[in-house]
Amino acid sequence: EQFVQVKNLRKVYDNGHEALKDVSFSVKKGDLVCLLGPSGCGKTTMLNMLAGLLDPTSGDILFNGKSVVKVAPKDRQIGYVFQNYALYPHMTVLQNVMFPLTVGKNKRSKAEAEKVAKKYMEITQITELANQKPGNLSGGQQQRVAIARALVQEPQILLMDEPLSNLDARLRLKIREEIRSLVKRVGITTLFVTHDQEEALSIGDKIILFNNGVIQQDDVGQNFYLEP
Ligand code: ADP
Ligand code: ADP
Repeated sequence: EQFVQVKNLRKVYDNGHEALKDVSFSVKKGDLVCLLGPSGCGKTTMLNMLAGLLDPTSGDILFNGKSVVKVAPKDRQIGYVFQNYALYPHMTVLQNVMFPLTVGKNKRSKAEAEKVAKKYMEITQITELANQKPGNLSGGQQQRVAIARALVQEPQILLMDEPLSNLDARLRLKIREEIRSLVKRVGITTLFVTHDQEEALSIGDKIILFNNGVIQQDDVGQNFYLEP
């Protein structure tokens, strides 16, 4: 039931910088796991390798027991919510959310794509924003659009990179609760990157503490001290 397994993963960038050194961990199916650590410790590098956007220098990544290192990003069944949301500015909210279902091998009929998109827009409470452009939305609303767009392909794994960092403090608290209840309802295995200890403690089933390219502690409990 270990759904994601990362084994002895290492990443050296072209400039020689070793961003990850011999990292191993696993994630159970349906768990929400936080990758916690200070800026620059390798969290985004880790997510990009899980998504297939970056090749590991060495090591292996397994989903459901099978290596995905040679599997193309689009065939990995991953939903990725980027830190800056990366919404398409010229498209409406509905078009943004539908987009993954209008291209490539996941392509559906327009009616079908719209139906699935509307289902996830309802879950993320953005139905009434369907015809707005992202530029007219608040940070919290854009965040919901990014989450809906990541979920329409009904991926097996959801990756979220500091998804709350652009929100004000009050909204951060509200949306992190929503994210937790949403991923539990959908039952999706989730890796959530944050540098905020309190956020990780409040949202994660398990916390993996990164520091300087290595795992400092796997499955940290409620009592630990993070170097400032
Ligand atoms: P985090 O997400 O924890 O802030 P990153 O994974 O973004 O950390 O970066 C880890 C380290 O690798 C940092 O020191 C960063 O400057 C470096 N890094 C990230 N991307 C590149 C790149 N394309 N080339 C060289 N170094 C990089
Ligand atoms: P994050 O905030 O998620 O840690 P960054 O702001 O560090 O991400 O990085 C943003 C982009 O810049 C990424 O595509 C990353 O690969 C690239 N990058 C980060 N650090 C470096 C670096 N030292 N050299 C080259 N590219 C880098």
